Amino acid sequence: MSTAHMTREATRALRAGVAGEVFVPGDPGYDQARQTWMLTVDERPAMVVEAESPADVTAAVRFARSYGLRIAPQGTGHGAGALEPLNNALLLRTSRMRGVRIDPDAQTARADAGALWQDVTVPASHHGLAALAGTSPVVGVTGYTLGGGLGWLARRYGQAANSVTAADVVTPDGQLVRADPDHEPDLFWAVRGGGGSVGVVAALEMRLYPVREVYAGALFFPLQLAADVLHSWREWTTWVPDDVTSVGRIMRFPPLPEVPDQLRGQAFALVEAAYLGAEGNAAELLAPLRQLGPDMDTFTTIPAPALGQLHMDPTEPVPALGDGALLTDFSAAATDALVAVVGTDSDTPLTSVEVRHLGGTLGRPASGAGAQPNIDASYLLYDVAVAPTSETADTVREHAKAVKDALAPWHASYDHYNFAENPVTADAVLPTDSYRRIQEIKTRYDPDSVIVSRHPV
Ligand SMILES: Cc1cc2nc3c(=O)[nH]c(=O)nc-3n(C[C@H](O)[C@H](O)[C@H](O)COP(=O)(O)OP(=O)(O)OC[C@H]3O[C@@H](n4cnc5c(N)ncnc54)[C@H](O)[C@@H]3O)c2cc1C
Repeated sequence: MSTAHMTREATRALRAGVAGEVFVPGDPGYDQARQTWMLTVDERPAMVVEAESPADVTAAVRFARSYGLRIAPQGTGHGAGALEPLNNALLLRTSRMRGVRIDPDAQTARADAGALWQDVTVPASHHGLAALAGTSPVVGVTGYTLGGGLGWLARRYGQAANSVTAADVVTPDGQLVRADPDHEPDLFWAVRGGGGSVGVVAALEMRLYPVREVYAGALFFPLQLAADVLHSWREWTTWVPDDVTSVGRIMRFPPLPEVPDQLRGQAFALVEAAYLGAEGNAAELLAPLRQLGPDMDTFTTIPAPALGQLHMDPTEPVPALGDGALLTDFSAAATDALVAVVGTDSDTPLTSVEVRHLGGTLGRPASGAGAQPNIDASYLLYDVAVAPTSETADTVREHAKAVKDALAPWHASYDHYNFAENPVTADAVLPTDSYRRIQEIKTRYDPDSVIVSRHPV
């Protein structure tokens, strides 16, 4: 049923009944409310509800059910590139629900559905604690965690999803329930890495870790050294301890005013890393990379929340297109294959092509884990570019595909949920056993498939 069938009366009643705001096409504010972080996405939902509270979420879910609308929960819209069209859906924005509570004694955080990572990392750091945030401080805690959640502490502490201790969820039939090991265990399992297809998360609770400071930074090398740098980094990753999480990367900084002077319009091969060990050991650890002669070396001891700047992710919305793949290995041959497509001689428009080192805790099944107990791959490929027009978007897609194809011999059997930015289904981004279990849970909790999630089941 479309907006035309929703009586004005019913929409007025919903508006009166929620603390947040309700927009339908034509309303002033509708265009702003439907805008996602990913500016390449142009969704036109039948209705947008900006919820202020779990009660608003429940009211919106019940309204959608009564009027035959599907429900698309969304925080920031960082993951919106993987969504299907929302023409017959209610876009349920949680971006006003940013409350966070830190319990320093229990070493846990409780984050409302719309919290950004910086809303958690900064107050947690006041107690010497760190959360398993990703590289960007403005990505949403909920979407990131539902998809697993790979950050700078991942090789030591695993994915964020496996540190979730409880979730408040509004089920597709409009009930607010608590999911934890003793209540709704299937829901609890599903929201920890299985995506957001089984209900609307209203809040997540998670473990924090006693990490006050981290030795972290980046080595910037001239792009001409890309082959040497990536080969050395690859070898380095074969022996570094689990306390090191790192990225080998090629970056072509766009000539945009918001890029710092020393980087604007320049291209580099980089190694970025975060090390949880003693600073005294870091010099020896980094020596094999430093001897390649970086142009810039930013390694130093930083407070844990400053990890949010290490990867230089844009904090304002951008028209970006990206895609990724899990790799079983990043061998010498794989390194050569990557350098051949994005090294000095390439005319690639890709702003960033990175390989993240996995393994460590990520490779071992976490006890009592959710839908991604471990990652059955040793590295992760991800590339992204700014694509402000449809012509540039086509070129970017072509080049991104060429990079993915070049590494095809090393692809794992599935991709990472959070780094697949195209609308692929969940079976492509989860281990087979997990996908089967998610299917069963989805059928039980959402038999009419009203929840629209990225990577649908
Ligand atoms: C710049 C950038 C950096 C990134 N860095 C990392 C990284 O370091 N590590 C990593 O693992 N990932 C990373 N990602 C990927 C990111 O985790 C995903 O895009 C994730 O989906 C973003 O979550 P969000 O809530 O911000 O986005 P949204 O687009 O708001 O949400 C994404 C999806 O999550 C689900 N969802 C969101 N909120 C709810 C809810 N309340 N209830 C139910 N379902 C919900 C929905 O299916 C929604 O479509 C990055 C992405 C970008 C763009």
